[in-house]
Amino acid sequence: MSAVATLLLALFAAGPASATIKYRVSLAHNEEHLFQVEMEIPNVAQGTEVAMPVWNALYQVRDFAVRIHDLQLVQPAVLNLSAPPAILLAVNKQTWRIVLPQSQGSAAPQGATVILRYSIEWDDAGPFNSQLDAHHAFVNFAEILLYLPTRRSESTDLAFTDVPAEWKLVAELPSGDEPNSFSAESYDALVDAPLEAGKFSSFSFDNQGAHFRVAVDGDNWNKRNLEDYLRGITSYELRLMGGPPFKEYTFFLHIGPYPEVGGGGMEHANCTAISAPSVESAGAIAAHEFFHAWNVKRIRPQTLEPVDYSKEQPTRALWFAEGVTSTYGAYTLERAGLWTKDQFYGDLAMQIDDLESRPARRWESAEGSSLAAWLEKYDDYNTPGRSISYYNKGQLIGVFLDLSIRDATDNQKSLDDVLRAMNAEYAKAGKFYDESDGIRQVVEEVSGGDYKSFFQRFVSGTDEIPYQTFLSAAGLELKTQTTESTDLGFRPEAQMNKSVMVTNLEPGSAAEAAGIRDGDIILPPRDKSSSKDTIEWLAQRAAGDPLVLRIRRGGQELELSFLVSSHEDRQYSISEISHPSEKQRRIRDGWLHGATGQ
Ligand SMILES: [Zn+2]
Repeated sequence: MSAVATLLLALFAAGPASATIKYRVSLAHNEEHLFQVEMEIPNVAQGTEVAMPVWNALYQVRDFAVRIHDLQLVQPAVLNLSAPPAILLAVNKQTWRIVLPQSQGSAAPQGATVILRYSIEWDDAGPFNSQLDAHHAFVNFAEILLYLPTRRSESTDLAFTDVPAEWKLVAELPSGDEPNSFSAESYDALVDAPLEAGKFSSFSFDNQGAHFRVAVDGDNWNKRNLEDYLRGITSYELRLMGGPPFKEYTFFLHIGPYPEVGGGGMEHANCTAISAPSVESAGAIAAHEFFHAWNVKRIRPQTLEPVDYSKEQPTRALWFAEGVTSTYGAYTLERAGLWTKDQFYGDLAMQIDDLESRPARRWESAEGSSLAAWLEKYDDYNTPGRSISYYNKGQLIGVFLDLSIRDATDNQKSLDDVLRAMNAEYAKAGKFYDESDGIRQVVEEVSGGDYKSFFQRFVSGTDEIPYQTFLSAAGLELKTQTTESTDLGFRPEAQMNKSVMVTNLEPGSAAEAAGIRDGDIILPPRDKSSSKDTIEWLAQRAAGDPLVLRIRRGGQELELSFLVSSHEDRQYSISEISHPSEKQRRIRDGWLHGATGQ
């Protein structure tokens, strides 16, 4: 008798008192990227709804239901002819209702066990997605597992079957009774713990009372180098925050040419998943992601609780949850000696550069950018004229808040004290903070100052940040270097033959005024034999040169001319002033070393 037949007999039978929602996931069809899922739901009441989350891992509605192939309710082998079968009634694009059989005059059976079966397709690399292929599986469970909206807090069991030979499984979850199985106290806990299955390498280390496991998929990485990064990062951040809020923590790393697409990291309560091309970049991401174990996973805005899997969940707090986490990512790398002081100053200057290169800083605030995170899936939203990044501006706000607190308290207090106070007052007390106001209150409590104006100007508002004023507190100088560069007014893109296509035409440019349009084909000058030659020839034009282009548009050939223009590139750098005051030196040293006092 197979496991499936046993489960069929249980259909519609009363569940045991301490029933658990069970998932079985078969990896038999790994080469077709299909997870085959069976969900056994005990104690089903008439009309119980099941649903697929619409978002997870990214603040983007991605409608995971679209990936479900064949959702069905498993009927008993022998149907009772006097009663209709149980059915699964579609409610909306992501929700179904279980309608139990009801023979005439009798009530619906209570406490029935229902089994659902479906396959779901995923082949997307990276920490925000799920993937099943011949090489491995990586799973964010909210992306493949249905849930019961009214029963999310019930315990769940999860077992994997048909696991390819030689594959190991790792997830930051308690192991279940059978091989390749796990348990979780709730659906929410289950989906906050991704899984890697495959032939990955692993090692572990202990630090300040916590056990750290590292699972690495990829090649071209050096264990000693990686362990140095992870030990350095965890040592500093554990010390900063007063010890681990967990017993065990897992780093899931994909390093090297695999995966080919995009890098990044995704935080979870007791683990993080990171994809990066090298150990150095994985380390830089890890410094940010590990700090999320406090900021956002435990020091958490009320607006993100409880998680609403059914629709967007806007919050004003991402400038703090993500941006200030980046402030600490950079602080950690510098304070743990993984970055030089110049790298740290260079990163800060680059953040200033990023914000200053976005005209949208004048009309989108840090809070506005946070609320608009849900628009990031649209390319148009991400253009410099339309949006800023809450990572970028939030990181700068964190740094300048810190320097301002150190300045106001003569380096007796810092942003570190704010994070520790938020940990004590919210995370450890099981409370959530009230958006930017909740953060401001703690800043004021720690510093003894009034921060209404700071928050109004730089967090809710769009005032230009007076960088030099803040940097002066630490005896630092912001230098600007301006370089002039040639600007064609569009981006030439190579085509198959010698020709080149006009793309990214700048509105208001001389090229546009001359009548050039996106998609125009620039015919090569007579002596050019390839599109590469044509692009090089275009790149050699100098500002002020008259440029005559032969253009093909549709069936027409045109000759358009204009003067090549130029634009100013500003480059920022941060340097130490040569004769700082005692106070400036004290603040700078405290800031660089993560210390307060003299
Ligand atoms: Zn983050």
